[in-house]
Amino acid sequence: MTIIDLRSDTVTKPTPAMRRAMAEAEVGDDVLGDDPTVKRLEELAAARLGKEAALFVPSGTMANLVSLLTHCGRGDEVILGDQAHIYIYEAGGSAAVGSIHPRPLPNRPDGSIDLDLIEAAIRPNDVHAPRTRLLALENTHNRCSGAVLPLTTMDAAAALAHSRGLALHLDGARVFNAAVALGLEVSTLVAGCDSVSFCLSKGLGAPVGSMVVSTRPFIQEARRARKVLGGAMRQSGVIAAAGIVALNEMVERLADDHAHARRLAEGIAGLPGIVLDPATVQTNIVIFALDRPDMTPQQLAARLHAQDVWLLTMGGPKLRAVTNYHVTAQEIERAIDAFAAVLAP
Ligand SMILES: *Cc1c(COP(=O)(O)O)cnc(C)c1O
Repeated sequence: MTIIDLRSDTVTKPTPAMRRAMAEAEVGDDVLGDDPTVKRLEELAAARLGKEAALFVPSGTMANLVSLLTHCGRGDEVILGDQAHIYIYEAGGSAAVGSIHPRPLPNRPDGSIDLDLIEAAIRPNDVHAPRTRLLALENTHNRCSGAVLPLTTMDAAAALAHSRGLALHLDGARVFNAAVALGLEVSTLVAGCDSVSFCLSKGLGAPVGSMVVSTRPFIQEARRARKVLGGAMRQSGVIAAAGIVALNEMVERLADDHAHARRLAEGIAGLPGIVLDPATVQTNIVIFALDRPDMTPQQLAARLHAQDVWLLTMGGPKLRAVTNYHVTAQEIERAIDAFAAVLAP
């Protein structure tokens, strides 16, 4: 039987169209500014997000780090969620490399941060305080079950940030999932953001790469930050070609992943020991807890693995399943059956 790999949407492999585009990509030395395929990808990404310019980087982690380094100097402060990927999963890069001071505020279960808390956290102009430069949001929110921040939330946060002289960065690793879930153009959703990072290599299926999107002057500076981090690549048109296919062909189908995630959530929510409200599943991430005296989350994951259903434990009682384009509707049914068999009392 085929393996149903629900560990992440990063496990997606390039589609045949991507393989062809990669094989045929026209390339050059991008550090010298002459890889035409990278340029095409950067122009396409900027246009899709309604911004002036974009920069191709090797990973989402580097996209966020490049963005933070471009917004903030040493000792400057970034306000971000305490469940943010940037805060939890990026090895403290902005502090380690940029001496940027993090100010984590509680993320609500819907991925948002209370605007009053943000406002109260913005520092006065005082020699004792770091300078608050940046607000960073995440949409969809990875650790908050792939929750979508709606347009009103994005715009209200942007208005607050801008009224207080802060820039707004969006960690939009899965921003296309958010836009598809909301039925909005992604450019509308990120209109209030000064910079956006997004991943080509998650649900969009490209093998490698992320983008930073912003104004032309910002991207100019971001290019320097990418160089500092060793992320400037040479004939990167080979991988950028897959990114172009991802943006042109793989966005609309994210709705299938969302439907599959919702079906998976509904199918396992009633099983003995599963703690999950399917209404929390808005996109392609299903986070649930296991509450069983006779089974740990690790044991559940191992037993599912033996049934060729792969997912990840998250620490504590939680586990995570992420749908992606390799997983079909029938395989979701098979996964539900595997859960039912493994959890049967
Ligand atoms: C995956 C992810 C990243 C980082 O992307 P990598 O390509 O794995 O470095 C950043 N932010 C969020 C919200 C993510 O889910």
